[in-house]
Amino acid sequence: MRAECPHFFVLLRSTRMKRVLNILKRFVIVLLLTATTQVGGLVYLLWLSLQRFLPQGHYKLQRSLIKGGSFVILYLLFTLAIIPPLASAFGRVPLSITKHGAIRPARSYTWILNRHYVNREMLELLSSVATNERFEPGYILYLDACFPFIDGFPLLPHLSHKDGKKVDLAFFYKDQEGKPLHNFSPSLIGYGVFADGNANPTADRCKEAGYWQYNILGKLMSPFPNASAELDTQNTRRLLELLNQSSTTSKIFIEPYLKSRLLPQGNKIRFHGCHSVRHDDHIHLEIH
Ligand SMILES: [Zn+2]
Repeated sequence: MRAECPHFFVLLRSTRMKRVLNILKRFVIVLLLTATTQVGGLVYLLWLSLQRFLPQGHYKLQRSLIKGGSFVILYLLFTLAIIPPLASAFGRVPLSITKHGAIRPARSYTWILNRHYVNREMLELLSSVATNERFEPGYILYLDACFPFIDGFPLLPHLSHKDGKKVDLAFFYKDQEGKPLHNFSPSLIGYGVFADGNANPTADRCKEAGYWQYNILGKLMSPFPNASAELDTQNTRRLLELLNQSSTTSKIFIEPYLKSRLLPQGNKIRFHGCHSVRHDDHIHLEIH
């Protein structure tokens, strides 16, 4: 056994082994970037092919900064300038990424990771609801939508967000004095902090039926410590009403107890099933 160890380490240090490990590392990076951003894996491969044109730094830190910085610049160039018109040619459009318009991202990671694409009908629906004169907030906050390309390519962990026809929307919140909290989300990632805290009869039922994942985000996320926010039932109900009224809408998912409280007559509001996760932290919207 002792005689084998040095031989193994010699092999590990050999050029061939290093090359194999390097290919494996790149393969894993491509896989991860593709799963999280769809196009990031391709951008990474392009960036690798451009390596020889990069300036060579004298120090390790310098070289790392040049490498990391050049990848970020190339990735952002694709995300902001190249993908939107390309995706549009294939039928998907990006939702606005500024915090001031009628449609706003609740969290910036959504657009940084290219998770903010929908088809034109969905964009029209969201715009018409957000700018409806009977809709007081005048804007909608979105969470995950879909990737820019390819029907059937799921946006993990949402398996159904794969065709430009689905988007998750944030609830509205107010402070203890009843003042609206603008652009507010009680959770770091926009998901996982529930309207009624942890009280939810459906979650208990799903857990008893063996669906351990139903409450998983509640275990991972906690509300911001100084956020004394509560659900703005009036504006959230209005949003649900307008979405429910639209002929473009096919389904809306929220927890059954929230449906009872906010819009019991909402004929398009359904229960998503225990195989999913809790929907008392966001609204899932689908169109025909
Ligand atoms: Zn969804």
